[in-house]
Amino acid sequence: MSCMLSFGRDERLGRILELVAKILREGAVYCPSEPSERELLMEALDFLGCRPPPCEEERREYALEELGFFEEISPQRLRVFRSTEELLYKNWPTPLVKLVSLSKGGFGVWAKLESFNPFSMSVKDRIGWSMVSEFLAKNPSARAILYEATSTNTGMALAAMAAVKGLKAKLYLPATIQRASDVILRVMGAEVYRVPKTLTVDFVGDVDELARREGGVHLNQFENNANFKVHLRYTAKELDLQAREASLSLKGIVGGIGTSGHLSALSLYFKSRYGEGVRIYAVQPAPGTVIPGIRRVESGMKWLHYVKVDRVVDVQPDEAIEHAIRIARSEGLFIGLSSGAVVAAFERLRAGGLEEGDYVLVFPDHGFKYIERFSDYLERTKS
Ligand code: PLP
Repeated sequence: MSCMLSFGRDERLGRILELVAKILREGAVYCPSEPSERELLMEALDFLGCRPPPCEEERREYALEELGFFEEISPQRLRVFRSTEELLYKNWPTPLVKLVSLSKGGFGVWAKLESFNPFSMSVKDRIGWSMVSEFLAKNPSARAILYEATSTNTGMALAAMAAVKGLKAKLYLPATIQRASDVILRVMGAEVYRVPKTLTVDFVGDVDELARREGGVHLNQFENNANFKVHLRYTAKELDLQAREASLSLKGIVGGIGTSGHLSALSLYFKSRYGEGVRIYAVQPAPGTVIPGIRRVESGMKWLHYVKVDRVVDVQPDEAIEHAIRIARSEGLFIGLSSGAVVAAFERLRAGGLEEGDYVLVFPDHGFKYIERFSDYLERTKS
């Protein structure tokens, strides 16, 4: 079986993201007169969730806020929603919460809780929604079957979106993922297949081929720019407004990398808007180990090419579990293994000498999917 992904650098995407970074840095948009430059500007504005500027003769510069930069981030106070799809995107921002047990000395440690998303209880609801919405916007009457390689969370998000949009999902899981995933995904109406491989990314090419052969649609979370875009338009902007609300002195963001979608978008956004003082730390499993949802940089990631990461931190699976248990026992939050890995990485960085200030740890999901792993660990360590 072959893998068709190379994750090479795409020149046009590179130019668009350079423009996105420039707009974020300057907080304003300049209308070019050249049509091809204007086309590029429109694409950059779409990544930023802004309306196109009118570009009148006498006026060529527009502040981001004038173009609706923050308008998509609107907390609903009374929490009434007209559909479960609205419950997803109109319920953002996901919470930002201070972890009191980790905040000591000059450090404020905050967690962004992606488990507050309703479908997969994970960060992946965002991309399930954006990939399916973009697909349906271009193919409004499609009755497609969605094919996807997933380590569970994207599968849950796609199964949910398929359910509410009247589509079907065929999901392909690596052999290494907990058995509970098959049950969850089947309950959610998806067809589930196991692939005898360790990493999800190792059979993306096969799923692509299969979808093509069987007339299905492969949205492909690893390469679909709707992934990166939804994190730039929502996740990053939410965190920006939340950090302002809490008057944070933001020194760094720590996050796991799977497709690299959320951490790359956070890096582009915060470094462009606030400079190199906001450090970005990426968390990956130690060599030869598996932590569900995250993987090693050298296995290839699309959006990491265009952004800066200050450090990549290796975490062992047992450290991830230990730190997830620690958060459950100190904060009362039952977090997933990649969230535990993010805590472990942060503690390692702090022990190595981090600048004091506020740090945000992105917690991608909830602990319930990993019961089998927690159970083995508790049994083995008698803890
Ligand atoms: N953590 C979990 C549990 C995940 O499922 C994923 C993605 O699959 C990630 C972290 C990484 O997120 P991203 O794909 O945005 O890099």
